[in-house]
Amino acid sequence: MLPLLPAPVPPFVPFCGLVYDGMLYFDINKMSTFTMSQSQPAIAPPSGTPLTTLSEDETMFRASVREFAEGELRPRVEHMDEVAKLDPAIIKQCFELGLMGIETPDEYGGAGASFFTAILAVEELSRVDASVGVFVDVQNTLVNNAFIRWGTPDQKKKYLTRLASESVGAYALSEPGSGSDAFAMQTRAVEKDDHYLLNGRKLWITNGIEADIFVLFANANPEAGYRGITAFVVEKSFPGFSIGKKENKLGIRASSTVELILEDCKVPKENVLGEPGKGYKISIETLNEGRIGIGAQMIGIAAGALESAIAYTAERQQFGKSINQFQAVQFQLAEMATDLEAARLMVYNAARMKDAGVNFVKEAAMAKLYSSRVAERVSSKAIELYGGYGYVKDYPVEKYWRDSKIGAIYEGTSNMQLQTIAKLIIGK
Ligand SMILES: Cc1cc2nc3c(=O)[nH]c(=O)nc-3n(C[C@H](O)[C@H](O)[C@H](O)COP(=O)(O)OP(=O)(O)OC[C@H]3O[C@@H](n4cnc5c(N)ncnc54)[C@H](O)[C@@H]3O)c2cc1C
Repeated sequence: MLPLLPAPVPPFVPFCGLVYDGMLYFDINKMSTFTMSQSQPAIAPPSGTPLTTLSEDETMFRASVREFAEGELRPRVEHMDEVAKLDPAIIKQCFELGLMGIETPDEYGGAGASFFTAILAVEELSRVDASVGVFVDVQNTLVNNAFIRWGTPDQKKKYLTRLASESVGAYALSEPGSGSDAFAMQTRAVEKDDHYLLNGRKLWITNGIEADIFVLFANANPEAGYRGITAFVVEKSFPGFSIGKKENKLGIRASSTVELILEDCKVPKENVLGEPGKGYKISIETLNEGRIGIGAQMIGIAAGALESAIAYTAERQQFGKSINQFQAVQFQLAEMATDLEAARLMVYNAARMKDAGVNFVKEAAMAKLYSSRVAERVSSKAIELYGGYGYVKDYPVEKYWRDSKIGAIYEGTSNMQLQTIAKLIIGK
């Protein structure tokens, strides 16, 4: 579990004077001709709470995650990317720190925290490694979320407890022939006595190598169209279940992405999650929340890339001075920081709307769409600011850029987000 009081957090100062505390401060000249800061003396208590203001609990939580990310994760990132595998020690620590059951109620061994807290964790982890970011994100925003909302008391007791303490979860909707058009899935479930037999293939399944528990969608009544789609809890050990090809990817390489093969996979009837035929609703609603998690992954990537660029441009000397002395470079950093600020506000707002119980679907789609663009833009600009050094694997920024690309694809492509936003603003 997370410690109540955070241990001292090593300041992330890669090369020079950068301090991050929710705002970015930097000494433009590094030699203190002047210091830019947004801090002002408090003259009156604020009448509303700024979106980026964290509660005491949130502040402590973020500090703990940052300490883990800087101390344990950062030294392993390059190797994990190279070998395309999560270090088992990192997975173990994610459980020990309580990161795998953030919203899971206390009675099932979880932290019983808010959705926003999970978003903070995904952002902080992705600032260092987006593969671990999505590992934790899928567990919390898709898998645990599905059990918390639709699980029976027995399913919650059995699975949420395991997911909070030792078992990795995965979410299996996509197939080779159905991605954006997810409800056109070909995986079938046939009812037989006290169980279902599942046949088909799932593709692109994140956490598939590490997972024991899969929330998996199959159509149990194809004649009813999407109203036949049913969510099942499938365990890796069930007969007829196997893992197929592992993808060799551009980015988030340490995050496993695999094919699942179902050949007369025997799933007990008590493992139907929610009602039969209501799987479409479960997938839509989990993905609505999941998108905010991807937004958090994207702002984490943008933050990591920006911090690296600020540090590097202060260090790098050309024409007899630090390159951050050139206004053109300063303006690029300023653009990147502004982009990140806007994306972070959108992600935090969508997450806080979710916690407040108000409709957040449009805001979640906007946050994912925008933050994925920001992550790509900021990390690409960071490469340019590093010059040739940005293009090689000795420095971190090329990885941020590779990792950013997935934000426009999974949990609904950018076109699908635009479609959702358009429908909601036009009213159709
Ligand atoms: C690394 C990775 C991890 C993933 N993890 C998971 C996971 O854990 N679980 C899971 O279930 N899935 C996962 N996915 C699958 C992912 O959600 C799909 O790849 C995504 O939804 C897109 O589907 P597709 O690849 O079939 O592309 P397609 O749907 O074929 O889309 C191709 C292009 O056509 C466009 N397009 C399609 N339809 C329309 C339309 N109506 N209007 C306008 N444009 C359209 C799309 O925007 C896109 O640009 C993952 C994918 C990747 C790459």
